[in-house]
Amino acid sequence: MRLFLFIAYLSLIFNVQAQNWNQFPQQDFIAPFAGKIEIIGTFCELRPNHFHGGLDIRTDAKIGRHVLAIADGYISRINISTTGYGKALYITHKNGYTSVYAHLHDFPPSIKWYITKNHYLLKTFEMELYPEPDLLQVKQGEMIAYSGNTGGSQGPHLHFEIRETKTEQPVNPLLCGIKMKDVLAPTISNVYLYRKDSTEKLYNGHYPSITLNAKTTTYNVKPGTYSFGANIRDMAISAGDNNGVNYIEVYKNNELFYKCEIEKFDFAKNRMFNHYIDYRRYKQGGVKMHKLFIDENNTFGFWNASPHDGWFTIHDTTTTHFKIVAKDVYGNKREKNIHIIGNAAKGTFISNYIGYNRQMKLCLANEENRIQISNECEVFFLRNSFYSDYKLPFNKLSSNSFQIGNDQVPVDKKFDISILLNPEQQKLGHKYTICYSNGKSFGGEFKNNRLTAKVKELGNYYLTLDTIKPSIQTISWNKNGYFSFIIRDNLSGIKNHDFYIDDEWVLLEYEYKNNLIFGKVPNKIPSGKHIVKLIVRDNRNNEKILIQNLQIP
Ligand SMILES: [Zn+2]
Repeated sequence: MRLFLFIAYLSLIFNVQAQNWNQFPQQDFIAPFAGKIEIIGTFCELRPNHFHGGLDIRTDAKIGRHVLAIADGYISRINISTTGYGKALYITHKNGYTSVYAHLHDFPPSIKWYITKNHYLLKTFEMELYPEPDLLQVKQGEMIAYSGNTGGSQGPHLHFEIRETKTEQPVNPLLCGIKMKDVLAPTISNVYLYRKDSTEKLYNGHYPSITLNAKTTTYNVKPGTYSFGANIRDMAISAGDNNGVNYIEVYKNNELFYKCEIEKFDFAKNRMFNHYIDYRRYKQGGVKMHKLFIDENNTFGFWNASPHDGWFTIHDTTTTHFKIVAKDVYGNKREKNIHIIGNAAKGTFISNYIGYNRQMKLCLANEENRIQISNECEVFFLRNSFYSDYKLPFNKLSSNSFQIGNDQVPVDKKFDISILLNPEQQKLGHKYTICYSNGKSFGGEFKNNRLTAKVKELGNYYLTLDTIKPSIQTISWNKNGYFSFIIRDNLSGIKNHDFYIDDEWVLLEYEYKNNLIFGKVPNKIPSGKHIVKLIVRDNRNNEKILIQNLQIP
């Protein structure tokens, strides 16, 4: 009876207030652009290896749109990076929230002086700055940056976040007064049925599942414990939209059974995204989906209002009605109805069993795991690296390559691969790198004749040598004081660069997507003859040096 009242109470809240607007400020913020705001990516969209932490706002494929401070505050952090957020700015506001603006192109003089000063002070392009609160204060609506395409951005746009200042957790900006036109309901395409089988999970890393036929709504299964997963995306104004869905519910015989609300999350846990989705289906087919159950050791905390963990039991000959409901932040919703019938004789048995392998080693979720693969190779996982206990394969494949677990099992924390180099290899120990099977190089620290690299994916790794210098190709040499170069590296990748005019360090920016470094001669360099030196280093410290004369008119 109490459970019934509790559920009735929940559905009352649900009907009156689907989203918890009142927890977040509604009046404090304006949009980060004047004029039209078109949002092309939303909060907690499913991205590779992470939830999207904010909104992506269109800039009409151009750089240079004026970015505005959404409220009064002070610039508390500036990050200049070649990857990730690129050039990013953080403003701390009085109401307990911080706004974040990323992939920026440039800054107005009121801010740029501070950034340039620090580039020259630290003699580096990449840096992270934390200005004092009274140094760079801004007013609501003040122009704080030009939008761009820096860092991991795949095209010009503004990445925008609102975070709780104290916890640094991003919250859905659409719950904080930032508005978007969203008139379409989400879509639910494939639905998956999972069977709870801990043996299969131990050996395969996942519960077995099948894709339900989209054309039928009734399925016969053998009696057992089951749950669902689904491909769900939100559309805002057109069918091609691929936005995140933040509210998912499952009703069992018309009672709320499972409820997932994604309104904020902890960046420190973002890696656990791979445990929220079905990582095996992602690795096999690129599909990122929502599991509709709370998987073991998933601590995202999206389920505070969920009456159950999402698993249900099907007995022989019973029919259970399920309704999956997906909603966007404005309450546009889509429903999908499914009937599951228990049928001991003719029901489907769901299994993806790959078979018992004696070579597999047991890795425990709540312990450290140190695994000796061969005389030379050892792997070390920190405690809580795995979300459950797994049996994983570890094998020496050839003299320099190793199988390290099942690449369809996610790992929460970086782990160490340590390889003892043979006496011949030891002579060039610091030039060796540990690479993933796709060629990505992780370098490693060479110490006590061992090369140890930190990596974060299971799979096959190999040891290889990098003694080849990066290459430099001059594109623009002092055209109106402008320099640009194409720089490339064959293996371990570009680490950094330095540019000098007469031994004075000069800032060049690096845009890895175009392999381009570029910049201008500072005005203070006098006319006359100068010597220019460009040094480009790869991650194994192979250096390419270019020295040339420069005549400044
Ligand atoms: Zn983004």
